[in-house]
Amino acid sequence: MRKRTIAFAIASLCIIPLLYSVIATVVIRLTGFGIVKKLNRTGIALTFDDGPHPVFTEKLLDLLKKYNVRATFFVVGEKAKMHPALLKRMHAEGHQIGIHHLQHTSSWRLTPGRLKKQLVETEQIIHDITGVRPFLYRPPWGFMNAATIPLARSRNYRIIIWSHHFKDWKVASCETILLEGLRQVPEDGSIILLHDDGTNPSADDEAPDVMLSKLQIYLEEATAKGIPFILPILN
Ligand SMILES: [Zn+2]
Repeated sequence: MRKRTIAFAIASLCIIPLLYSVIATVVIRLTGFGIVKKLNRTGIALTFDDGPHPVFTEKLLDLLKKYNVRATFFVVGEKAKMHPALLKRMHAEGHQIGIHHLQHTSSWRLTPGRLKKQLVETEQIIHDITGVRPFLYRPPWGFMNAATIPLARSRNYRIIIWSHHFKDWKVASCETILLEGLRQVPEDGSIILLHDDGTNPSADDEAPDVMLSKLQIYLEEATAKGIPFILPILN
């Protein structure tokens, strides 16, 4: 009996963290409960994660300006604090800015209290720089935990995931699949995930540079065809 109790206690200790992290993410992603993966409007939403980066974000903003396209930036709070001019420019040029944690930290490793701190501090940084309170949130890697939805609701955030990505955080996939993938994205509310910073451990530093060269070709073609680029949620 005692052995069974110990086995049960050990199993519970393993299952509870899994329920809190991986299983919570799988359930939310499969059911779509509390998250937005696709928009119910015509158009394509371009979203860029992990910046701002002093070189690549600047180049990206120039590119978006050239083609008169608005996009959404899910920024890392600490990087935003280091590059306030880039956030001011995003805001001035009509782009939307959302939260992507204070550091690029997985929600699987965050207690509810630490997750809240990541959100609130990033919200404050964006608000201090732009004067606007962000209400879009994308958890890094799309990883959530059991506290993600209640916390997002309590702060009136909308959690935006994506409908399409082409592994643009790697140079090899930018070279091989990105452009063809972008060309095939339907304009039925698709949300495309891209990255304007390649400094995460799983990414290639130079990947955003290759991504930008492919994005330029795509935007040239897409804007000539009149494909509408939309923002996930308009105020
Ligand atoms: Zn990210």
